[in-house]
Amino acid sequence: MIRSDFHLHTSHSSDSEASMESMIQKAIELGLTKICFTEHQDFDYPANSENFDFLLDTGAYKAELFDLKDKYKDHIQVMFGTEIGLMPTTYDKCRDFARSENFDFIIGSTHIVDQMDPYESIFFETYPGKQGLTRYLEVILGNVKTYHDYCVYGHLDYAVRYCPDKSFCFVYKDYADLIEEILKTIIEDGKGIEVNTAGYKYGLSYPNPHPDILKRYLQLGGEILTIGSDGHCPEHMAYDFSKLPELLTSLGFRYYTVFREQKPEFIKL
Ligand SMILES: [Zn+2]
Ligand SMILES: [Zn+2]
Repeated sequence: MIRSDFHLHTSHSSDSEASMESMIQKAIELGLTKICFTEHQDFDYPANSENFDFLLDTGAYKAELFDLKDKYKDHIQVMFGTEIGLMPTTYDKCRDFARSENFDFIIGSTHIVDQMDPYESIFFETYPGKQGLTRYLEVILGNVKTYHDYCVYGHLDYAVRYCPDKSFCFVYKDYADLIEEILKTIIEDGKGIEVNTAGYKYGLSYPNPHPDILKRYLQLGGEILTIGSDGHCPEHMAYDFSKLPELLTSLGFRYYTVFREQKPEFIKL
C-alpha cells in the first residue's frame, strides 16, 4: 500500500475550499503516514472566468501548516511543499520564491501555455488535437532546460485531460522526440517526475503521465518518482492509489520517492 500523497491542495490554493485540518484527518483515516501539501504559486496567471489568481499567502500557509504538523505529529508526518506554475516570463520570480522558504518539496508544473490554461476551451480551439499536447510539451522542454529550482515536474501530459475530442488518444510515438528530450533533461538535472492520479477523475484509464512515458523514463535511467493525487478536497486524497503498485511494478519500478528538505527518500513499492 502506498502511504504517502505528495500532491495536495487546501484553501490556501485559489481553486480549493478544503480546510487543511480536514485533509490531514482524512489522510490519517486512510492510513497514510506522510503527506505533503503543495499549494499553488502561479505568478502572472492570466485573468480567468473564475477570478483565481493562484498567488499564495505563504505566511498564512506556513503558519497553519506548522501548527497542524505539530498537533498531529504522533499520527502523521506533514511536509511543507509548493507547486510552482512555471512560465518563461516568470523564472526569476519562481526562483526567488523557491529559495525564500525551506520547502521540503517543490513541484514544477506547466499550467499556462501562451497565456492559456489547457483547462479552458480556447486552448484546444487554438491548438486542436495533437497540436495541443505538442505545444504543451514544447513549453515544458523550455522550462526544464532553463529552470532548476524544483524537485519533480508535475503531471507531464496534463493537457491530455482536457482535450475535448473524445476520440483523441495519446500515442507515445507521436511525441517521442519531445518527450525523450524532456525526460533526459530532467534526469541529467538530478530531478524527477510524479505520477498524478487526478487523470483517473477525468475519465482517463491511466494516470498522468501515460504509462508509456513512465516506462521510457525508467529506461533512460529515471529513478525519482513521487506519487500524488492532486486532491483539492478530502474525498480525493490518495485517489485511486490502489491501482498504482501493480501498474508501476509491471513497468519495472521498484521504488517510489518522498522528499524531506528537498532530498529524495526511496520507499519500496
Ligand atoms: Zn498542477
Ligand atoms: Zn496541483
